[in-house]
Amino acid sequence: MPVSLQQGSFIIAGLLFILALAGLSKHETSKRGNILGSIGMGAALVVTVLATVFGTEDHGVEIGHAAPSWAIIAIVAAMAVGAVLGIAKALRVEMTGMPELIALFHSFVGLAAVLVGWVAFLEDSESANPGLHAGELFVGVFIGAVTFTGSIIAYLKLSAKMASKPLMLPKHNWINLGAVAAFLAMTVVFVLNHDNRPVGYLLLIIMTALALLLGLHLVASIGGGDMPVVVSMLNSYSGWAAAAAGFTLNNDLLIITGALVGSSGAYLSYIMCQAMNRNFISVIAGGFGSDGAVVGEQKDYGTHREITAAETADLLKNSSSVIITPGYGMAVAQAQGAVADLTAKLRALGVKVRFGIHPVAGRLPGHMNVLLAEAKVPYDIVLEMDEINDDFENTDVVLVIGANDTVNPAAQEDPSSPIAGMPVLEVWHANQVIVFKRSMATGYAGVQNPLFFKENTAMLFGDAKERVEDIIKAL
Ligand code: NDP
Repeated sequence: MPVSLQQGSFIIAGLLFILALAGLSKHETSKRGNILGSIGMGAALVVTVLATVFGTEDHGVEIGHAAPSWAIIAIVAAMAVGAVLGIAKALRVEMTGMPELIALFHSFVGLAAVLVGWVAFLEDSESANPGLHAGELFVGVFIGAVTFTGSIIAYLKLSAKMASKPLMLPKHNWINLGAVAAFLAMTVVFVLNHDNRPVGYLLLIIMTALALLLGLHLVASIGGGDMPVVVSMLNSYSGWAAAAAGFTLNNDLLIITGALVGSSGAYLSYIMCQAMNRNFISVIAGGFGSDGAVVGEQKDYGTHREITAAETADLLKNSSSVIITPGYGMAVAQAQGAVADLTAKLRALGVKVRFGIHPVAGRLPGHMNVLLAEAKVPYDIVLEMDEINDDFENTDVVLVIGANDTVNPAAQEDPSSPIAGMPVLEVWHANQVIVFKRSMATGYAGVQNPLFFKENTAMLFGDAKERVEDIIKAL
């Protein structure tokens, strides 16, 4: 295959990835963005496989050897197994299981970067600049290993297979800093001794083990409240790991793609930090969020009041302005379709209905927006927290559908709360607040919610979808 064809395809794929990112940044264009990204990835994959199978040449001079037949069989087999597993998983995964699946995928990227780095070292191939090559390889293995174990812990925490409780080892920040300092020192020694194989082996083994442990410790010490930032941070790390692998493999497309994922993930982490009113360093320092035990339970908040679906329907009928604030429970109940129907019904009755979306509602950045878009709720009535927070006091009824932490007044009123300082939707300023949930249980951060005990709050217990359908019937 001519190398110009390979490079041309890579440039086109790179452009398609940039267009994909641009498209994904808006609801209206997100589908198109997704399709462009898929075409780019498909083209990159086909060209890479063809170049591996047939080799590459430049004006008749061979540059890359054709792969031996056993390697081709291995590639086809790996792609077949990957495709079967990927399709089977994608068909079965619920929207609520998406965050942990993404975390798991990030771990694969990390592992791939570690393997690429190790294979490059074992191959000991010729390089025009062996010192630089050694540096790229060492950094790639480090980022990959941190991403690998960090993402596995994130997967375990997000899927509730491990408590979201932050692991607080004594001097845990010093452990992290020490590990990074040791890595930097080892990188210098590795690069300076790039032609000394025994030293190289030793350093690579020690560093890989250290990075694997650092990934474990880094994410284990981050509390439930900071998990949104961790998800996007690992997204960013996986991009940098891929870019590092691209340098090691001399693959421009991998460098471009990795840099795009790395920088967009970093920007997303920044946005999530702002949403949580946290700075990135304190997120890494860990500990935010409760230890999984219910916090604030011992306080006496008084008693809660219950309401029925029929009573809620009456309230809604007589309202002029309603705001719906969905949360993780709407995703669990798969209530978005029913919520969209209720919205349409109320709008037909002349009620002004809008949605207030907290930036970390659900378990995935943009989780609620995706669900509402899927249910065809008009985009123009879906507003971000900052756009709607001042409007609650002029609102008749707020329907809190499966949200908890994101509407918790303790974040503002109780400085001792584990989520103190996190911006929240100030739903309690409305005339009436109806909270849809199944019990008095806490949300993800494990913090009791004084909203449920406020005078203008009533609890509508049960599965959110069933209750919303009951209201539609009553209307
Ligand atoms: P929460 O996780 O705080 O609360 C969800 C509520 O939904 C629960 O209290 C639960 O109560 C209720 N619920 C669950 N299933 C149902 C159902 N079938 N019907 C009705 N209610 C149900 O949700 P929020 O969206 O308010 O907050 C998100 C939390 O997740 C934040 O702490 C955020 O930091 C964290 N997080 C967010 C990420 C992101 O990127 N968005 C990533 C990782 C974590 P009950 O059991 O009583 O029904």
